[in-house]
Amino acid sequence: MNISTGTLTEPSRETPVLGEFDVVVVGGGPAGIAAAATAAHLGQSTLLIESYGFLGGMGTAAGVTNFCGLHANVHGAIRQVVHGVADELLERMRKLGGLSEPHILFGGKIAAQAYDNATLKVAADELVLVSGAKLLFHAQAVGVLMTSPDAIGAVLIETKSGRRAVVGRIFIDCSGDGDLSSHAGAPFEKGTTGDDMMYPSTMFRVNGVDPIRAGDAWNHFGRLMEEAERGGRRFPRKTPIIRPQKNPVEWRANVTQLSNPDGTPVDGTDAQQLSRGEVEGRRQIVDFFRFLRESAPGFENAYILEIAPQVGIRETRRIVGEYQLTEDDVLQCASFDDTIGVNGWPIEEHIAGNVAFKWQDIPKARGFNHLPYRMLLPLKVDNLLVAGRCGSMTHMGQSAARVSGGCLVMGQAAGTAAALALNAGVRPRKLEIRALQERLEADGAYLGRVA
Ligand SMILES: Cc1cc2nc3c(=O)[nH]c(=O)nc-3n(C[C@H](O)[C@H](O)[C@H](O)COP(=O)(O)OP(=O)(O)OC[C@H]3O[C@@H](n4cnc5c(N)ncnc54)[C@H](O)[C@@H]3O)c2cc1C
Repeated sequence: MNISTGTLTEPSRETPVLGEFDVVVVGGGPAGIAAAATAAHLGQSTLLIESYGFLGGMGTAAGVTNFCGLHANVHGAIRQVVHGVADELLERMRKLGGLSEPHILFGGKIAAQAYDNATLKVAADELVLVSGAKLLFHAQAVGVLMTSPDAIGAVLIETKSGRRAVVGRIFIDCSGDGDLSSHAGAPFEKGTTGDDMMYPSTMFRVNGVDPIRAGDAWNHFGRLMEEAERGGRRFPRKTPIIRPQKNPVEWRANVTQLSNPDGTPVDGTDAQQLSRGEVEGRRQIVDFFRFLRESAPGFENAYILEIAPQVGIRETRRIVGEYQLTEDDVLQCASFDDTIGVNGWPIEEHIAGNVAFKWQDIPKARGFNHLPYRMLLPLKVDNLLVAGRCGSMTHMGQSAARVSGGCLVMGQAAGTAAALALNAGVRPRKLEIRALQERLEADGAYLGRVA
């Protein structure tokens, strides 16, 4: 073994085939849950590969515990605009008793909907398994075998049973980080220059809050932090988001910001940056929690219930597809002939030390943009769809449509497109749009074509 060149040559190997599926989905976040459940529901043998032992993606693994993007401000009225598979997920969560009612944000501009972490994990298991899709947990996609320069034949995974290959006809990349697409050679972007992605945050939840004394504390944390800063305390970021969960003794906190020593955001595809980021996130949480207990009425006896299992990653690779959703599309409430659903969340930019929101012209504008099917179609690779936060969007467009609502829309559309393309014997990019849209609407999705 000679390590002087900085690389080692591994011996070639025979890799056992774990199975062969019509549709193989990598990543079990909101996009992957919706994609796998939909493809299987439409009759395709489907495998969902997830590196954790549970579903939910950032929604559970990063402790997000709150759906944004399900609603839009439609000429002044807050309306749920994401339906279809999202409704089934919400209904299962409601039955499990862990879904809050939507709460109004930003003085009435928009709503979000919190949930208990365990509830999303269990409801997502049910949703995917009832559809007939198979789940493979603790399996990480680490490479692909191409049958031609533009077609994936199999995805290579590392599991506790060893390395395996999964053969598929159509693949859907819902890894959030575009892992599968990048292995297959699809082009991608990160930020605008490569190191200016949205900053990540480690989230945490506390328990033991006195809800009466805490009151509407979410309106006051910003002021408390400013007062503390005048006294010499420093916080990594302004604009804290600290809100109650369904049981108001439990609150979630989204307050940290993770950067490298040079101030650039931690890159969620860089193992060493991520490792430093995990430690830094926990350090910031311990510091912020001390401030909470000392300064916020109702939090005196609170304790940290959970520091999320991993750093919350907002943006890494965004795959370049046939169309990239832009900031203008979001702000101008753009319409597209190939709409597959809608996004009503505003531009939410996580910049150094702060969060910056930009809003549609509500209530004058209709408050949502269409999401075009072309966002799901990566350049160069033909039997691949991409859905979720690694979909084809610009850096700023992604800051809006990356939230859970948009990811559920993209996932359902990708699963439907995969099934229809297989049935029709065509590549996803040759699929007849009208057939896709009719199927989505028949399955309850709202495409934003009628008010
Ligand atoms: C701190 C923070 C706060 C946020 N707050 C909100 C909020 O309040 N409301 C909201 O709606 N959204 C919020 N978001 C955004 C939202 O949670 C994510 O953008 C959304 O979950 C993305 O969904 P996704 O399915 O595209 O990917 P992800 O949720 O990232 O899921 C990807 C899944 O793929 C798996 N995976 C990745 N690579 C591989 C691989 N190679 N092999 C196998 N599996 C793999 C991961 O384990 C993960 O489960 C927040 C994000 C962050 C980081």
